[in-house]
Amino acid sequence: MDTIFTRIIKGEISCVRVYEDEHTFAFMDIAPAARGHTLVISKEPYPQLTDVPADVLAAVAQTTKRVAQAIVLALHPDGFNIVQNNGSAAGQTVFHYHVHIIPRWQGDNALQHWPPGSSDAAELQELADQIRAQL
Ligand code: 5GP
Repeated sequence: MDTIFTRIIKGEISCVRVYEDEHTFAFMDIAPAARGHTLVISKEPYPQLTDVPADVLAAVAQTTKRVAQAIVLALHPDGFNIVQNNGSAAGQTVFHYHVHIIPRWQGDNALQHWPPGSSDAAELQELADQIRAQL
């Protein structure tokens, strides 16, 4: 599978690299939602979260934590979001598993929180039952 991100890893497309190890690669997002918006990807291309083997997932999580800590120390944001889109309905545009680290400053409006919905206890129970049956 060739994606824009595999081409970045191979050096065919340039990027601003932040970190690299055996399984993961981190670089600056070309269209940042906020200052310091960084992407962490698996070197092996998997379309989305549910396709990624557990050891690679763990490696991406470790790199995400490491880079997020570095962003906090370097840029002093008030917080940060970890965003991970799966499927075009969820906003995924590059089908190569990746995690966004988006530094946030109070009142920056860089991302909007979802509007709170309403829930029905019986429906929540039914949904949980359906999900649990697939675990
Ligand atoms: P998604 O919408 O799939 O969760 O996120 C894809 C991200 O990749 C977007 O934030 C987009 O700005 C970033 N992106 C797409 N193409 C490139 C590129 O060529 N270079 C870099 N550095 N980022 C890219």
